[in-house]
This record gives sequence, C-alpha cells and structure tokens, in this order.
Amino acid sequence: MKYYSLNYNSQDISFLDAVRKGLAPDRGLYFPKKIPKLPKTFFNNINSISNQEIAFKVIQPYVGNDIPENRLKKIVEDTLNFEFPIVPISDSVATLELFQGPTLAFKDVGARFMARCLAYANINNKDEKLTVLVATSGDTGGAVADGFYKVKGVDVVILYPKGKVSEIQEKQLTTLGENITAIEVDGAFDDCQDMVKSAFIDQDLIQSMSLTSANSINIARWLSQMFYYFIAYKNRIHPNKKLAISVPSGNFGNICAGLVSQQMGLPIDQLIASTNINNTVPSYLNSGVYSPKKSKSTISNAMDVGDPSNFIRIQKLFNNDIFKLKKILKGYYYTDSQTKKAIKEIYKISGYTADPHGAVGYLGLKEFLKNSKEAYQGLFLETAHPIKFVDIVERTLKTSVEVPERIKHVLNREKASIPIHSYEQLKTFLLKR
Ligand SMILES: *Cc1c(COP(=O)(O)O)cnc(C)c1O
Repeated sequence: MKYYSLNYNSQDISFLDAVRKGLAPDRGLYFPKKIPKLPKTFFNNINSISNQEIAFKVIQPYVGNDIPENRLKKIVEDTLNFEFPIVPISDSVATLELFQGPTLAFKDVGARFMARCLAYANINNKDEKLTVLVATSGDTGGAVADGFYKVKGVDVVILYPKGKVSEIQEKQLTTLGENITAIEVDGAFDDCQDMVKSAFIDQDLIQSMSLTSANSINIARWLSQMFYYFIAYKNRIHPNKKLAISVPSGNFGNICAGLVSQQMGLPIDQLIASTNINNTVPSYLNSGVYSPKKSKSTISNAMDVGDPSNFIRIQKLFNNDIFKLKKILKGYYYTDSQTKKAIKEIYKISGYTADPHGAVGYLGLKEFLKNSKEAYQGLFLETAHPIKFVDIVERTLKTSVEVPERIKHVLNREKASIPIHSYEQLKTFLLKR
C-alpha cells in the first residue's frame, strides 16, 4: 500500500515511511491510495474470530510488506490486550467502552499501535533516534507516554499546559521517566500546540534530529481506530437490527476511521458525529459550507476543536460529494448544560456513569433514533473513563466516582517536569539532549 499527500505535492510513500514522517513534506495529511474491501465471508464469520485476529485482517492491507505478518500479529496482540465491553443503557441504546486501556483513554489503542510500528521501523534503522513531539490538553499525552514507554530508539517529549490538566493526567505524563520527558508550559494548550508546530518547521531542529508527531494526523494512530468499529459490529447486541454508531468527535480521526471501516464493507448503517458547541462539522452537514472557527472551551474539552484536522480525509473518502456523505453521516451538537443533563439522564435510566464526552455521544444517538423511521440498534462510544473528568461528573451526579484500582499506583509516583515559558527554551532543550 502506498500513501499520498492530500496536498498533492509530495512523493507517494509506504506505510512505515508515512508513520515515521507523520505529515508529508508539503504539510498535507497522508491518505491510502485505495480502500481495500474485505470479503463477505469475513463478516459472516466474524463472531468466531478473536479481536486480535480481526484487527490483523483489517490493518494488514494498509501495512502491506512493510512489517512481516508474524511481527504485525504480535504488534496487534500487544495493542489490544484489554477488553472492549458493550454495556446496555436502554432497549435500543448501549455504550461501547473504549477506555479500558492502561491510561483509561480511548487513545491508548492508537498510541500503542503507533509506538510498536515505530519500534519495528527502528530495528532496521539503528543509528537514527526518533523524537516524538506532542502537545496535549490532557488525555493524549498520557496515552502517548504509556504507549511509547521504553520503546527503543524513540524519545518522547510531551508539552502540557501548567495547571490545566487534572491530577491523574499530570501524574500519567510526568512520572514515567526513561525515554519520556514532560515539559510544563507556562501557558494554555494552544501555546503548547503552537510550539510543536514551530518545532516542525524549524530548520535548525529538522537538520539535527528526526522529529515526528503522535496525534491522529499520523496514519498509524488514525487507521488503528478502525478496530473499534469491527469489534462493535462483532459484539452488537441485536444482530438483526440496523446498526447506528454515535462518535463523540473533536479532531474527527476516530469517526473518520469508522467511515473507512464502512467503505471496507463493514455493515454499519449510520454514523453520527456528536460534538459540543465546537460544531464546525455538524454545521457543514447542515449548510454545505465548511467554515472553521476558533475553538471554545467546554466540559468535554478533548473535543474543543474548531477546525478538525481529519475532516479533509473524510472529504477525500467521499470525493467531496456531500450528498453521498450525508447518507451515512449525521451530525448534531450540544451545549454543556445539555451534556450535564444527559449525564444525569443516563445515570437515572441505567445507573451508568458516563463522562461528558460519552454523554455528548449519547445525545447525538438519541436525536438520530428519535428522527428515524426504522428500528436501529444504537451504540455510542465511551471515549474516556468518568474518573478523567471527575469534578464535573461528581458535581453533576452528586455521587463519588471511584478511582479504578489499576491506576491508583500513579498517584503515589513522583512528578518530574521541565518548566518552560518560551519556544526558545523548548528549542534549547531539544538541541541540548
Ligand atoms: C480525543 C478524544 C475525543 C475526540 O476524538 P477525535 O478522534 O479527535 O474526534 C473524544 N473524547 C475523548 C475523551 C478524547 O480523548
């Protein structure tokens, strides 16, 4: 499989090269030359196939000969070494929990898969150390730190805004040591993001090190999210009903992977993009006009994105045909007060504690089901454990959320970070290592 740049001004490259580069030299996102189709028999027999085997079959055509089959199997097995439970909420609604990974964030899968692909890429490339530079508003950083921890040949530098991430998130970022360095930026998330962007175009840095990013721009992180949709289909509760999946969306990497899965032949009947008031895509689906905006802060802050970077991939998938796109994709958006009401409603009807992102997904699903004439089975994706947004959830439900046993240990670890307040300081740090 070859990948081309969506700015059409770079060479086509193979899977591992695209994983190493992140963004194409012309600043475009990489996109596969074709979307492979899986045979009907695969879907008919999917119930008897393990999650790991499904994931291998799904991703193998995208990797091609870049990673030998046995090694790719091992990578996929290590990536998916936890559960993806479906929890019923009502007759027609259930949630697929994507947060059972080591950092309780759905980004664990993409980060783990990407880290293992890069580790393999580095076996054949011994002298060149790779630096992964990533800005985080909270959850991405933890997943990336954990996914890349002790991966040989890769250094990870994570920028996070001082005082603006939760205690658990900060511990997850700052306590691993080894090849993971946390940089505490005196500023907001946007400042961290700007510094990372500056680094990627800084000739002094480009000349002296291999820099890559670990956000959903990277094809390894983006494409591995397809696994969720195949697992959702396999474990769906009502196999005879049509399937609608609602995805809490920010940068639109996750839902874009769902749309790719559907084009590979996966029988998903409807995808729903659920957002907070950062509603650029729902507005586009409504009006046909794409007008990116500055992002606004909300309680579902992992989705505070005004100009989703993966939207261009969605447009490419449908060759810019909005009518075709609108048949499979609906979009709805919600305010913080609607989101809090939804957290209460979910708890009341099922006793289930949803996080603000999942609650937005629930609202979008409910709105779609209400408007549709046919009987659907609805799934909304739960993208974070409620403990990650414990203040909002506890205040809304007036109950306490327990810290899951398996992450209690991070709270006792010692924080280590490097405080900075300017891009020059970041640059000095990167060059001095
Ligand atoms: C990253 C994230 C999202 C948004 O995913 P995209 O792929 O960027 O659309 C939603 N919920 C949570 C909790 C996240 O961390």
